[in-house]
Amino acid sequence: MKVNLTDVFLNEGKILALEVPYEKEVFESQVGSFTIKEKTPVKLKISNIGQSKALVEGQISLTMAMNCARCLKDVDYTFDLELSEEVVSPDNASSQEDDDMNFMDGYHLDVEVLVDNEILLNWPMKILCKESCKGICKMCGKNLNDGDCGCDDFVPDPRMAAIKDIFNANKEV
Ligand SMILES: [Zn+2]
Ligand SMILES: [Zn+2]
Repeated sequence: MKVNLTDVFLNEGKILALEVPYEKEVFESQVGSFTIKEKTPVKLKISNIGQSKALVEGQISLTMAMNCARCLKDVDYTFDLELSEEVVSPDNASSQEDDDMNFMDGYHLDVEVLVDNEILLNWPMKILCKESCKGICKMCGKNLNDGDCGCDDFVPDPRMAAIKDIFNANKEV
């Protein structure tokens, strides 16, 4: 969805408030491809802040289908994004070198590109189904959150062995 900013660029004090849809059903990027399960429209407020300059502020909430990094279970991850970006009109001479404004297409703001940039900036370091996720057994592949699989993944270490013996002895009492 593209929004024409010509009016805002040209008129001092002009403020444009609008809601535009985020049209994609799937978020695709170098981090992978994720189904968007829920999304709000993008709420935008675009204010003139000087000759050929505008401040774009916006909000959107998006929920994507992801997987737990440890056990691969489906996890819904929600991004609550706040956008704030100063943009300059293409006829503003100083903007010519500024090529990081990939969300501008002439006088039009490409809202999805703007939102996508923000999603990537807010991409989580690690997705977990829960902080204490035990992951999957490396031997049999069972999800250890559903219980112990009984595989012997014990790493032989004399100190650990001693502790394990004490443990087992206590259990039998
Ligand atoms: Zn998990
Ligand atoms: Zn196992």
